[in-house]
Amino acid sequence: MSTVRLFFALWPSPPLAASLAGWAEAARPACGGRVMRTETLHLTLAFLGPVDAQLADELAAATPEHRLPPGEVTLDHYGVFKRQRILWAGPRATPAALQAVHDELWRWLAGYGLAAPPQPFRPHVTLLRNIERAGPAEGTSDFPPEHSPEPLVWRYDRMVLVASESLTGGSRYRIVAQSRPMEP
Ligand code: ATP
Ligand code: MG
Repeated sequence: MSTVRLFFALWPSPPLAASLAGWAEAARPACGGRVMRTETLHLTLAFLGPVDAQLADELAAATPEHRLPPGEVTLDHYGVFKRQRILWAGPRATPAALQAVHDELWRWLAGYGLAAPPQPFRPHVTLLRNIERAGPAEGTSDFPPEHSPEPLVWRYDRMVLVASESLTGGSRYRIVAQSRPMEP
């Protein structure tokens, strides 16, 4: 049976994605690495990994009615995943409402036999990959940069379901469904 690699995410508006790209550019002199393409920037809520194609279809069909309470998250902080050599932007602390979105999403997914990972949710937007320095390089500024650009306020009212397709040279994302915003 064929499988599809899926994840749920918050997807930024084009202006917010452009601001995030600015954060990536601001960090690159200190960190090195490869800038993510602006149109692929996102905040993962739940990474499902490969699921059967049939289950993928069921999830895509059910996603519109999995509505999120609208909320906001302020990205005000650079972080590093050293082992993966990733520089990211995120909130300094996870907002309770976003944690609740994550928890509720996994409760819903449990009904499909999917289990949340054991690691705590660490909301982040990956900005740079293959960063070159795991600490401050001589003659450069701090790492990650201590002084981040202006905080970015991200207001969300929906999530998207994304298929991640492996191609030579990296993954390509395809949005396969999105939740409906709640009625105002
Ligand atoms: P590639 O792995 O080909 O370099 P990618 O990491 O962008 O590309 P995926 O691995 O499909 O693509 O990941 C999709 C999203 O899910 C990314 O935001 C990634 O950081 C996140 N992700 C991937 N694996 C996990 C995991 N085990 N736990 C949490 N999030 C994950
Ligand atoms: Mg990956």
